[in-house]
Amino acid sequence: MIDTHCHLGEDYKEVLKRAFEIGVDHVINICIDVLDIERGLKIHREYPTVPAVAGIHPCHAHEVENGHFDLICGLASTKKIVAIGETGLDLHHSQKHLAIQKEYFKKHIELANDLDLPLSIHCRNAYQELIDFIEKNRVKKGILHCFAGSFEVARWALEKGFYLSFSGVVTFKNATQMQEIAASIPLERMLVETDAPWLPPEPFRGKTNEPAYIPYIIEKISRLQKKPRAEVEEKILKTSKELFGL
Ligand SMILES: [Zn+2]
Repeated sequence: MIDTHCHLGEDYKEVLKRAFEIGVDHVINICIDVLDIERGLKIHREYPTVPAVAGIHPCHAHEVENGHFDLICGLASTKKIVAIGETGLDLHHSQKHLAIQKEYFKKHIELANDLDLPLSIHCRNAYQELIDFIEKNRVKKGILHCFAGSFEVARWALEKGFYLSFSGVVTFKNATQMQEIAASIPLERMLVETDAPWLPPEPFRGKTNEPAYIPYIIEKISRLQKKPRAEVEEKILKTSKELFGL
């Protein structure tokens, strides 16, 4: 199995041990600041199946560290990372940083397109702004990470050729719309992620999330898609490997 989007911390050894034990043998580690990137590269040297992705999270776009974007460009062009991101738009906490979020989003899009790398897109309370922006700034290989949009957004994303990545939220009892979307879209366009350490699936809500919980998300998707678990597991792994070049 694979976790296509999580954030590993200082305790990565223990966290990865538990993931590997349960069969989640590929973990994609999203690094959002300079220290995080350094640790991500070190982890990848230690664990070849745990590659890094680097970007500037939209919630930090207004307070970017010096040299952060140049570092991402250098790593991307030397193929030390397997995707760019997470980048995108987030209007959940405040509207006031939208302009700078768009500025960095555009830079990430250009970099990913130039190098033919997938782009991990974060969107919170800003799907309409996101659609308008991407209509003007084409993304070649997009992943809507932690997908939480409507049917219309899902249809739009599939038309663009994007992948929809489902997190533990899909297991929540009240996530009926998300479950209906996960039941109806083609399995070939779905990814799974924990977004650990946040958003643990049922029955771990309120605890710290980790990649070892991926089986709960796969189980839910196999029930929604009415397909055998092994088939869902296999297809998602195949899609992810092709997309990230693993
Ligand atoms: Zn994330």
